Amino acid sequence: MREYNTDQAHALLKEYFGYDEFRPGQEEIISAVVNGNNTLGIMPTGGGKSMCYQIPALMMDGLTIVVSPLISLMKDQVDSLKEMGIPAGMINSSLEGDDFFETIRDARNLKYKLLYIAPERLENPAFMEMLQTMPIDLVAIDEAHCMSQWGHDFRPSYLELGNVIPQITTNPTVVALTATATPKVALDIKNNLGIPANNEVKTGFARDNLSFKVIKGVQPRDYIINYLRSHEKESGIIYAATRSEVDRIAVFLQKLGIKAKPYHAQHTAEERQEAQDDFTFDRVQVIVATNAFGMGIDKSNVRFVIHAQTPGSIEAYYQEAGRAGRDGLESEAILLYRDADIGLRRTWIDASEANEAHRTREYDKLEWMRRYANTEDCLQQFIVRYFGGDCEPCGKCSNCLDERDSEDITIEAQKVLSCVVRLNQRFGKKIVAQVLKGSSTQRILEMNLDEVTTYGIMKAWTLKEIENLIDYLAASQYLMTQSGQFPTLLLTQKGLAVLKGQEKVTRKVDRIVEKEVEVDNELFERLRELRLEIARDQNTAPFIIFSDKALKDMCEKLPTTD
Ligand code: ADP
Ligand code: MG
Ligand code: ZN
Repeated sequence: MREYNTDQAHALLKEYFGYDEFRPGQEEIISAVVNGNNTLGIMPTGGGKSMCYQIPALMMDGLTIVVSPLISLMKDQVDSLKEMGIPAGMINSSLEGDDFFETIRDARNLKYKLLYIAPERLENPAFMEMLQTMPIDLVAIDEAHCMSQWGHDFRPSYLELGNVIPQITTNPTVVALTATATPKVALDIKNNLGIPANNEVKTGFARDNLSFKVIKGVQPRDYIINYLRSHEKESGIIYAATRSEVDRIAVFLQKLGIKAKPYHAQHTAEERQEAQDDFTFDRVQVIVATNAFGMGIDKSNVRFVIHAQTPGSIEAYYQEAGRAGRDGLESEAILLYRDADIGLRRTWIDASEANEAHRTREYDKLEWMRRYANTEDCLQQFIVRYFGGDCEPCGKCSNCLDERDSEDITIEAQKVLSCVVRLNQRFGKKIVAQVLKGSSTQRILEMNLDEVTTYGIMKAWTLKEIENLIDYLAASQYLMTQSGQFPTLLLTQKGLAVLKGQEKVTRKVDRIVEKEVEVDNELFERLRELRLEIARDQNTAPFIIFSDKALKDMCEKLPTTD
């Protein structure tokens, strides 16, 4: 029997799929399978179940049979495997005559690593005989909940797999995969396929020891230096999007006496190794890095990961942020969010040479980062739901800890939503905001908006405020951004309910100061009468305090105790 080798598995992951690290649960499943243990893997949708048989298929000598319920799913997977240079074939009802026999012959001669088949096939005795001539090492059963009546998609032919697979004379290992996590379904699958009770790998996505924070409206460098000064004894990683930004931040920190080292792909392998070692052995406090930093770091006591710039997807963010707290101790994952960073990444995608479908996916993933930064939901929950799981609010992310009051903003939301509708859902955030503001830019004037009753109905707002509101409405799923190069705003069902007055919208607001305070003389005078003053500091909106004199007066009136 062959033995699992982690370096080989990582190399294959990188070479064929371009990923640096396994997702939660993947490696555990893959190693069990390669070592010949029948295994059930339960992972949320999007968790990366396919990898759990694709990597073993590449590591094992013989053929991997993949049982998959839908022809369309099969075809997608086979096509993308071929694109990556992994030979794969499929047998389903869409294959006829010669093609069918040719595929069988190719499978027999190991011209494929993976052969996808529909479950019905295995009920056919003639087909089973053909299978007996193939060097099968692994049978993977995707969407394995289909064999349980307790699942949501029962298929009788899946149930038959339990009888059919043991007849395969090469005695292949079996791996079953599903996103359905109920114990009844798991038990059915294991009983049916002869998987030992304990050979189950189940992953949720929540990282209980991480506190997520989204911080907006700060200068990243100011924030970082303040943070480091109050966390002097702790190690962490600071991620930036570009090599030049990495260098700038590193130099900035070094000048201020922080032990920091930069890390990116332009450094030599030796320099990178040295930086990594310095970090691992606590000779430097922080590594400032691009996403090149990650592969193979196993420092467990990383206390914080700060993203000075927004990564391109929730997947990337979670993976990078997840490098904090591997030892299980409380750690922080902080995103310093700026809209401009999303804009920067959009231009990279615009300029990339990837095909249209790929770029659309990238734009879409990026929009999810915008939603993450603008949601008022628990950040941990937001991420877990993104990956198809669920969890309770964490109670310690920046949203869970946000104590500001919620205000009813239904009217404002209706203004925005109706403007989107009036513009026939053909425009993106910038244009919609300009129309609401009543801007008279060339583009807007050319649009001939005389008929559009929403033109200028939010005159009193700044463009930035309107755009922020739109981001919030999109993050809260009242609006949807269509993926693609031009993120057109569309109304969702939820948004429609708001327009019809069936649903209310709330938003957290700063308690004292709602907007940029315009300190006119009248306000100033009134505050003085009340013996109040407006205070400002760099990182917060202006707030109101008692004047020194008022405080002194009050203190004098306090009873003395001695
Ligand atoms: P599932 O079947 O569990 O719903 P998939 O196998 O379709 O999920 O994978 C979902 C996405 O995750 C795919 O785009 C896949 O390429 C990606 N993915 C899988 N494993 C990894 C990994 N280790 N790192 C990054 N992305 C991954
Ligand atoms: Mg799948
Ligand atoms: Zn939370």
